Amino acid sequence: MARKFFVGGNWKCNGTVKSNEELVKVLNAAEVPGTDVVEVVVAPAAVHIPAVQAALRKDFSASAKTGLAKGLLPNPLKHRSDSLQAALRKDFSVSAQNCWQGKGGAFTGELSAEMLKDLGLPWVILGHSERRHILKESDEMIADKVAYALSQGLGVIYCIGEKLEERESGNTMAVNARQMKALADKISDWSQVVVAYEPVWAIGTGKVATPQQAQEVHDEVRKWLAANVSPEAAAATRIIYGGSVTAANCGDLATQPDIDGFLVGGASLKPEFVDIIKAAE
Ligand code: PGA
Repeated sequence: MARKFFVGGNWKCNGTVKSNEELVKVLNAAEVPGTDVVEVVVAPAAVHIPAVQAALRKDFSASAKTGLAKGLLPNPLKHRSDSLQAALRKDFSVSAQNCWQGKGGAFTGELSAEMLKDLGLPWVILGHSERRHILKESDEMIADKVAYALSQGLGVIYCIGEKLEERESGNTMAVNARQMKALADKISDWSQVVVAYEPVWAIGTGKVATPQQAQEVHDEVRKWLAANVSPEAAAATRIIYGGSVTAANCGDLATQPDIDGFLVGGASLKPEFVDIIKAAE
């Protein structure tokens, strides 16, 4: 089954109004493969979401087509080159980096899934290792967050991954399977979930997993889905890799059969993010 390549940019707790404007300018000018080939999502800090959403280029073809069908717009594409038409047709969507595990209300400092949906966000990242290990979010709490976000119509980028000591003690798959099971205990429909395998030792360290190391875990996670959810979910679920992905190393990783894209931290704040999107080709 064809799984559309997925590239997420996790901006984490970075950025200013000005630096985000610069970054969006780079993205808006980028010529990248079409939305039939790659899905691109950027996750700014929550406070910056509406501004980034407003500034990022839109799916020009969809709005133009509607307008043209109604005879409301002149045809802006008529005299343009094919490549410019292609560039105008691409769009990027916006994700949140976290949300609350249930209905919003008296939870100071939190963001509810309803709020994200109300803003028109299609995605939220949940279970990121920084939230698991620094903010001490448990497997169960994260699974509750995912289940609730899905119930509100959001797509979820669900992060899993082992720490260095867990890998070194031979527990890589045990840890990843435990994190997968915590979610499988709470949801049955995986169609709106993208699994991001992010070994903790590779995040922000410059120490990327080798294509073989990543492929091995992706393959095992897919087998886990086949055995514990369904062969259909295993075939359809995108499993993306995250951890020190750069323009220089993404090409080899992207050729692995079970690597369906990337979740990119540091490099998503730089123009090289565009080159990582192009790894989808
Ligand atoms: P990194 O972060 O690319 O900076 O290693 C990846 C992530 O945390 O999603």
